[in-house]
Amino acid sequence: AAKEMGGSAFKFYNAELESSWLARTFIINELESALVREELDVHYQPIISMAEHENLYAEALVRWNHPERGMIPPSDFLPQAERMGMIDKIDDYVFKRVCRDLQRWQSKGINTPHISINRSAHNFGGQRGRLDWLAYLAEQSLSSGLITLEITESTLMQKQSESRMLLHRLRDADIKIAVDDFGTGYSSLSYLKEMDVDFLKIDRSFIHDIEDSEDDRAIVEAITDMSKRLDIKVIAEGVETAVQADILKNIGCHGLQGFYYSKPLPVAEFEVYMFGIDR
Ligand code: C2E
Ligand code: MG
Ligand code: MG
Ligand code: MG
Repeated sequence: AAKEMGGSAFKFYNAELESSWLARTFIINELESALVREELDVHYQPIISMAEHENLYAEALVRWNHPERGMIPPSDFLPQAERMGMIDKIDDYVFKRVCRDLQRWQSKGINTPHISINRSAHNFGGQRGRLDWLAYLAEQSLSSGLITLEITESTLMQKQSESRMLLHRLRDADIKIAVDDFGTGYSSLSYLKEMDVDFLKIDRSFIHDIEDSEDDRAIVEAITDMSKRLDIKVIAEGVETAVQADILKNIGCHGLQGFYYSKPLPVAEFEVYMFGIDR
């Protein structure tokens, strides 16, 4: 039937087959060994600070550098990894990679950037078998002040006291907390009172049409005004054009992130972008 519907329908049919195959067999069989074989890679996307003399932020984003399939984006394996209970392992792996890069930059005497790391909500409180990030940072003689954790609103909303306690512990140790994809979750704002949040990252769905949409502009302005009064810095995600960047600068966002400035870069390219190191 798919064939009768023409070429594109046939492709779609194949894509569906492909994705269920991906989900069921490929991911399960290969993700575990991908971790062992270090096929997961971390790319860095610069976050441009609007405050002068403070330009060094970047977000660490995982990619799967598959030997046959090439670069697989996180959206194609993180949801499955989350369902299989493997997301903690991936987040720990990414964290270790970031630490390794931070150490290399420090040893070169470079003004080391602050790195944002995504941490999934899954089992946020459960520490069994999980790397203790604070202990690891101490072992590596890295300052926890260099790390920001990006977590979604739903994580912050979790009532589990264990999650809360871990977050407070990280926060007390000077790790910064960023609320990722702000404005897209079902949440009250009560966590902003209870948690000491450092950054709100406004989801790119509010940025995309900001040039034409008065509503989106109103929302971004309101979030930015509120954040200033709460002493929270706002970062706009998904900035793709100069016009968007101008609007967001005028609104008073603290940081801008998006393809307009740079895509997420492999570490060697990121080093050239940030520090002008060419290897
Ligand atoms: P996120 O944390 O909201 O990361 C931002 C995403 O937006 C990235 O997608 C980035 O490439 C993309 N992006 C940045 N600028 C632009 C732009 O100007 N336009 C558009 N259209 N997109 C832009 P990516 O790398 O595919 O990651 C997708 C999501 O996967 C991330 O969203 C994050 O939720 C998750 N993720 C990535 N790495 C990790 C990780 O190590 N651990 C966990 N738990 N989640 C991760
Ligand atoms: Mg993020
Ligand atoms: Mg985000
Ligand atoms: Mg987002």
